[in-house]
Amino acid sequence: MDELILAIDQGTTSTRAMAFELSDGRLRPQAVSQIELAQHFPASGWVEHDAAEIWTAVLQTCREVVRKAGGVDRFAAVGITNQRETAVAWDVATGQPLHRAIVWQDRRTADVAARLAAEGHEPVVQSATGLILDPYFSATKYAWLLDAVPGARERAERGEVKLGTIESWLVWKLTGGERHVTDATNAARTSLMDLAGLQWRDDLCELFRVPRTALPAIVGSSGEMGRCDPALFGLPLPITGSAGDQQAALVGHGALRAGEAKITYGTGAFLVANVGGQPVASRSRLLGTLGYSLDEKPAPGKIAYALEGSIFSAGSAIQWLRDGPKLISESRQSEAMAQSLTDNGGVYLVPAFTGLGAPWWDPEARGTITGLTRDSGPAHFVRAALESLAYQTRDLLDALTADGAPPLTTLKVDGGVTANAFAMQFVADICGLPVERPAFQEMTALGAARLAALGVGLIDNLEVSVAEAPAVWTPSMSEDRRRTLHQGWRRAVEAAIIAAKQSG
Ligand code: ADP
Repeated sequence: MDELILAIDQGTTSTRAMAFELSDGRLRPQAVSQIELAQHFPASGWVEHDAAEIWTAVLQTCREVVRKAGGVDRFAAVGITNQRETAVAWDVATGQPLHRAIVWQDRRTADVAARLAAEGHEPVVQSATGLILDPYFSATKYAWLLDAVPGARERAERGEVKLGTIESWLVWKLTGGERHVTDATNAARTSLMDLAGLQWRDDLCELFRVPRTALPAIVGSSGEMGRCDPALFGLPLPITGSAGDQQAALVGHGALRAGEAKITYGTGAFLVANVGGQPVASRSRLLGTLGYSLDEKPAPGKIAYALEGSIFSAGSAIQWLRDGPKLISESRQSEAMAQSLTDNGGVYLVPAFTGLGAPWWDPEARGTITGLTRDSGPAHFVRAALESLAYQTRDLLDALTADGAPPLTTLKVDGGVTANAFAMQFVADICGLPVERPAFQEMTALGAARLAALGVGLIDNLEVSVAEAPAVWTPSMSEDRRRTLHQGWRRAVEAAIIAAKQSG
């Protein structure tokens, strides 16, 4: 029986393949293989990956998983999820990358983004794509690649050089160079796609100097986007699902309705809130994006738009407690220490180690502690660090509300920090929402598998059915208390912002 899905999870630090088996309407993980990915830092603020190394790792991990799961004939389809925005340019004739891939974190095109903003282009870009002008997104990276490699721009105009994000590169390689496509969730992160119509915009291609001919065709996140070259695994497995990592996680969590959101609490934290069938324009500088689109064209019931916001320091605040002031020796000790106090004693920590993200957007802000007294001890620092996750989450949710997004009903969580029950209860309390953590945590791979299972017809909708009940934290704090604590936090954030202005 061919009922397995091969999910490729190509992340920033590693490449993984997982086999999921469908039984009783549920996708269960069967086998996994993982290879670390080398990071290259050729200059300050520059981050590169070797796209050829990524491809080799995909092939190797997939072959291992196919073998572990009992052979290729057990598989029905392939799904892909990937680090978003990372830009690849490759030679059509040789199938080789022209240059190392420019990774999403890379800031080398910051001056281009700043110049476009200074020239007043941001409102057009934002209203068309949902995105602010920032080097984070693929467009300025594509232009850089075409300018940096001699002759690349002319060759791209002639169709001899292709551009794409990681999933596009992988589909090209998996199909033996047959298909040059990108799924709409990845295309939504380039700054070149019209978010409402899911099509490349000629004016934006011109503005960012990216030749339209070099861009992949935009397809939906589910449905056949090509077939694997039979030489790779022995069978022409169809590739039937693809979504960027945060979007795949949204699907993995089953946050399929407007008002459902997921937040991944890792080193940083990433919120994606499903806003329903129409895009919502953000006034709070959240990013407008796609949750998923099952079809190539926006179709009612088959598309979900989203707003996205990120917190720069989440788990990294806990790492700091461990590695900086050494108040804990392991992350998990933070829970008992925070719980040793009945409250925060008026102490707040704003973990703006690398500036503040949405909705503050202050790159100059730095970490700040307020409210210290002679009674403050190590536990206050630890508790304040954990509480800061909840306050920062609340600020994102307030931004969603200000943008007119549908009110949230639940917050689905994953990531390393969710092991901390104190932090999760505090998030529920400060946000006034139930917080749900699924028993199975690989939401990204699961989302890709689910899209692929739908695309190949193994399942007929994306609804989640889970074997083990999720852990749920329900809010139990009074509204008064919530307001007082949040006000204390807002004062601490103001202090951080004012201090940055005075020292800058
Ligand atoms: P990433 O994918 O960003 O590397 P993970 O999802 O693996 O992150 O989560 C790692 C983060 O979770 C680390 O910053 C770590 O400090 C934090 N973390 C792990 N366990 C706990 C815990 N019990 N309490 C608080 N933070 C934790």
